Amino acid sequence: MSKSFIYIANWKMHKSYHEAITWCLQYKDELVQLSTRNTVAICPQFTDIVELTNIFKNTALKIGAQNCAAYESGSYTGEVSAVSLAQSGCSYCIVGHSERRIYFHETDDTIMQKVFILLKNTLIPILCIGETAQEKEQGLTFKVLEKQLYGLRSPSWNLLPTLPTIIIAYEPVWAIGSGIIPDHNKLETVLLWIADYVSSIHPCSFKILYGGSVNGNTSATLKKLAHLDGFLIGGASLDFQELKKIVL
Ligand code: PEP
Repeated sequence: MSKSFIYIANWKMHKSYHEAITWCLQYKDELVQLSTRNTVAICPQFTDIVELTNIFKNTALKIGAQNCAAYESGSYTGEVSAVSLAQSGCSYCIVGHSERRIYFHETDDTIMQKVFILLKNTLIPILCIGETAQEKEQGLTFKVLEKQLYGLRSPSWNLLPTLPTIIIAYEPVWAIGSGIIPDHNKLETVLLWIADYVSSIHPCSFKILYGGSVNGNTSATLKKLAHLDGFLIGGASLDFQELKKIVL
């Protein structure tokens, strides 16, 4: 029997509310079918979460968010709390995506705060890490990843009632939306490094995803990599046939 993978669709700010609902209703049966052997989650815009969780109620298909507040609650205009995401039916939440780090200046400290708050609210964080092209050229990949993962050493983990599950998504910034897939041997080295690093510092159960220009043509060989548990998929996840090709 082949390995079961995790597929997270990051829709970013692409499909509108109506488009998201129409798409999910159109492909509902097939999406549910794809989720029977694998974990499949769709991360739409905040406004669509409740409607989509209703569409997929009592099915294996999961819904996730693309971000959350770094605070529990309070006067933070425009923010969305982890507890509200949980109550809206979310199972996952992406944090630290490079687009949030770059365009919204999110820091590693803020991102780790979000990871902790999500875990407290029984959501599974999908923590995105990855180096820029410049950092890669300067040989800084592991240094950057270590800095982005360093907060997992926080003693506050001991406050959590149960051993957490975390998903780490390795997304080299230069691979996102570029059509460029990293050399598989190099990618395998990075995935192994992440697995070693996280297991050495933190008593959590973790999975490792790869993200960056994954599509129906590139996914099959990537799936053969050791230490790979699935994909975070941007552009290709907007097209059902492409998503299906990746999952099957
Ligand atoms: C992403 O932005 O998380 C991503 C993986 O995008 P794409 O698949 O389009 O490269």
